[in-house]
Amino acid sequence: MPSIIQKISSISARLLRRKNTLGGATQPSAEAAAQALEPSSSRLNPESSLLPYTPNALPPGPWLVFAPHADDETYGMGGALLLAKAQKIKTHVVVLTDGALGGEAEGLVALRQAEVQSAARELGLASLVCWDEPDRGLTVSEALIDKLCAQIKSVQPAAVFFPGPLEAHPDHRITAQLVWRALQKIEGQQQQNAMHDTAEATGSETAQPPQAFSYEISNQNPINIMLDTTEVIEAKSRVMSCYDSQNSENNYEDLVLALDKGRTFTMPPEVQHCEGFYHYSPAQRAQPLQAVTQEIIAQYF
Ligand SMILES: [Zn+2]
Repeated sequence: MPSIIQKISSISARLLRRKNTLGGATQPSAEAAAQALEPSSSRLNPESSLLPYTPNALPPGPWLVFAPHADDETYGMGGALLLAKAQKIKTHVVVLTDGALGGEAEGLVALRQAEVQSAARELGLASLVCWDEPDRGLTVSEALIDKLCAQIKSVQPAAVFFPGPLEAHPDHRITAQLVWRALQKIEGQQQQNAMHDTAEATGSETAQPPQAFSYEISNQNPINIMLDTTEVIEAKSRVMSCYDSQNSENNYEDLVLALDKGRTFTMPPEVQHCEGFYHYSPAQRAQPLQAVTQEIIAQYF
């Protein structure tokens, strides 16, 4: 014999089913409604909205690349710089730190400067500037931001490159923040000048801010641009061999080639190596880099 509680439960369940089917239409149960709110593969952004599936054209020149250390420009985007050289796009590199902590070799700072000068020749750079900020000691300061602003204004690039915000090395991440802040400062000054020009009706053309791209050096970062470096990968390997002092510290050449190979995951099979970049939109450029990066990560959830 069912207990009185079982009988009441059975009647309640029947009443609930009737309520859910009133008017002929089945009403979603609370359980089904809750399930509809849970993440599922069909509701998440597909991979094609997170990664490029075809290679992109080169960004417009001239380029200005900010490298935290002598070698980052080559390991991170040596292929892109070689493609730019082939297309006669002028490229400029600024190395921010003295690289003094990159090993135990005698006269390491001078050695690394000589290495980056050799690499610059191979890469066909239009200019190379080496600053002497302390290795692992970069700080976001107004003085350093102003120094970056002066460099950007001097070169007048169409595209500026800096390390991705999710790089592991703290100098790489600080460089990203420095360049980001410098670009925002320049854009703010340009907007003020434009307002001043409009007020005075001079009719002078407003300078366009350079486009902003982050590049990957030692690990994968957010990307929305892919450059096919297949045809220059051997030349990139030759440029990487300029950095004896660093290649003797770790198997960087193999690691870089593996990262470049790994980036071809979504590419057609003929694309053998790639370098990934993130091209930031004007709306993103108005926000702090941290907020932009968190928005990009949120697309995965
Ligand atoms: Zn570095």
